[in-house]
Amino acid sequence: MKPHEHMATFGTLDGELRVGGMPLSRLAARVGSTPFFAYDRDILDDRVARLRGALPPRVELSYAMKANPMPAVVQHLATRVDRIDVASAGEMQVALDSTIHADRVSFAGPGKSPAEIRQAVAAGIIVEVESTTEIERVIKAAEELGLTPRIAIRVNPDFAVKGSGMRMGGGPQQFGIDAELVPAVLRRYSTAGLDIIGFHIFAGSQNLNAAIIAEAQRSTVDLVSQLAEHLAAPVRYLNLGGGFGIPYTAKDQPLDLDAVAAGLHALVDGPITERMPEATPVIELGRYLVGECGVYVTRVLDRKVSRGKTYLVVDGGMHHQLATTGNFGQAIRRNYPVIVGNRTDTPADENATVVGCLCTPLDLLADDIELPLAGIDDLIVIFQQGAYGLTASPTAFLGHPAPAEVLV
Ligand SMILES: *Cc1c(COP(=O)(O)O)cnc(C)c1O
Repeated sequence: MKPHEHMATFGTLDGELRVGGMPLSRLAARVGSTPFFAYDRDILDDRVARLRGALPPRVELSYAMKANPMPAVVQHLATRVDRIDVASAGEMQVALDSTIHADRVSFAGPGKSPAEIRQAVAAGIIVEVESTTEIERVIKAAEELGLTPRIAIRVNPDFAVKGSGMRMGGGPQQFGIDAELVPAVLRRYSTAGLDIIGFHIFAGSQNLNAAIIAEAQRSTVDLVSQLAEHLAAPVRYLNLGGGFGIPYTAKDQPLDLDAVAAGLHALVDGPITERMPEATPVIELGRYLVGECGVYVTRVLDRKVSRGKTYLVVDGGMHHQLATTGNFGQAIRRNYPVIVGNRTDTPADENATVVGCLCTPLDLLADDIELPLAGIDDLIVIFQQGAYGLTASPTAFLGHPAPAEVLV
């Protein structure tokens, strides 16, 4: 998708991008400092509505909050999705401070400490166990607290998903219990006082290929229905993961959500209903829910020409934008969609390179892109910044102040 297509999603007014209905310069004045992140509620709501419209009604929607743990965003989604998935005690606290009920919170991720597990069991959160060590920790916490914990087994599947930006299942993994070991684990812990409600399989992130996602979901349902035979109780929880991607570069095409949804309808009407009638299927999304609602706004501090190449030096950078600079696990750095947010009516008439204010050549936000002529104090906007932005960046590097974050 091209920058102007992202611009159209937000809308413009009098030559400025609109975010949360406000022209950018007014928003910047209200925030009071640059750089900042702004998340647009209407775009977030549209995304939830689009998902609800497409997915089978029986499928519940979970928000994987590591994508954007800003408390206002989490609370906004807490009233709109069915569940929240957390990955640490810190995230658990944010989720528990929202209006979502604790029994609708799940806790996944390798390396859960005894204290984190105790906290989750005490709160009544679903612990998605990744190893037998974690199961033992759950049992110990439950005995001490006098509670029956609800757990789901995170399974490392025996298939891998192609086309993911990050693979998190198949082959050797730190995530989950290998599928072939699960029957023995279920036998071993069948009388341990645990309520094992089902399974969780999350095989990868940032996938834009609907056919591959649908195939992974089919394989997941197949695998879980085999594992279900080893579970004493019926499967009630069937977390199918997610991994729905969003387009970051001009070449990326948006995910065909209807194609993914068609596959899910077939699974729900077929094998899930036939083989796991009591199961609630869950799709767990981070990036796809919040990624497109966010922009990062940074101000031009300097404009310089070096041996024929024009640089715009901005007051933000890699310390808030690790992924945009290509340093968050990407194999190849590609330009994210970038515009001059206060010159949306001006045609692009020069090539410029946007760099951040850190003393490293890695701090490259956009390399040699077409922009309208921009100078000091113009506002550079980077799209697709609602997920894995601020909290996935090295904010302490170089000691600049933290950026503001607003939900508008
Ligand atoms: C990170 C993560 C997610 C969210 O991934 P996205 O690609 O942002 O949708 C979902 N589930 C688990 C277990 C995760 O670790």
